[in-house]
Amino acid sequence: MSPNDAPSADAHTSGGSRPAIVPAHERYRSAAPCNALSVDVEDYFHVLAFADIVDPASWAGRECRIPRNVERLLEIFRAAGVRSTFFTLGWVAERYPEVIRSIVRAGHELASHGYEHRLAFAQSRAEFREDVGRTKKLLEDVSGAEVIGFRAASFSIDERNLWAFDVLQECGYLYSSSVNPIHHDNYGMLDAPRFAFRIGAGGFLELPMTTVRIGSTNLPAAGGGFFRLAPYAAFRWAVRRVNAEQQPAIFYLHPWEIDPAQPRMQGARLRSRFRHYLNLSRMEARLVQLLHDFSWDSMERVFDVRAAADSGAARMICR
Ligand SMILES: [Zn+2]
Repeated sequence: MSPNDAPSADAHTSGGSRPAIVPAHERYRSAAPCNALSVDVEDYFHVLAFADIVDPASWAGRECRIPRNVERLLEIFRAAGVRSTFFTLGWVAERYPEVIRSIVRAGHELASHGYEHRLAFAQSRAEFREDVGRTKKLLEDVSGAEVIGFRAASFSIDERNLWAFDVLQECGYLYSSSVNPIHHDNYGMLDAPRFAFRIGAGGFLELPMTTVRIGSTNLPAAGGGFFRLAPYAAFRWAVRRVNAEQQPAIFYLHPWEIDPAQPRMQGARLRSRFRHYLNLSRMEARLVQLLHDFSWDSMERVFDVRAAADSGAARMICR
């Protein structure tokens, strides 16, 4: 098994107007890869699992747990000596600017998760442009830091909206981490490359969520609910396996995942409740163990995104 298991560039240039996809993982080949740590900064009432029972108009009236949970994550990361990327909603930045500034002050990368967690493939091109452009400016105005990274809500860039990469590039983003090459009921772009690739005429950089390949199947290994569902040893094995392919893994979590005391949603479907509340009380200890067992740094630094955009020499940065 190798990164070359990813579909070839040729496979992606056929079929009409589909933009060309060129694997870019060779740039990041390393015998001892540093892995990329990321946090999707949204609260328990923003999540897709509860979107059918939570009206966005009610968000402002709900108890927001982001300030305390982000502060706790910053403590955990400081104790572990790691940097992370915080993909943050514009909605959060508008209401909690001090949280945003504390993230940047602590040396982490601030990135965009869109304004209010709308699925990218549910938006028109014009709506998406307005959303990602507005959020980038908002995050930059609040933080004073340049924002170059984007992650779509619920990994919602796939075959339906590959134009989104062009829009992100036009808006000044340098990379996206929005594709999840797995089979899932809510998202997934199964035939996307497993590792870094460039797409479209502008060669925009996409850093897909981490998977392990078993036979002909990609299994999720990027975090989220799967990190809480699988035994820790299984997840550690998966990260080791990706690193044995000489590629960085990308891990993500949400602030509400370390908060077992968060308010419970009434009326949620059983499957949504299972996914959201499973093993919340074990999450913090597992996270600390994961930070201890591997090397971690922000997306921007692990993938050397600015130099990659300048076509500079390939190099890996790690603590
Ligand atoms: Zn999200």
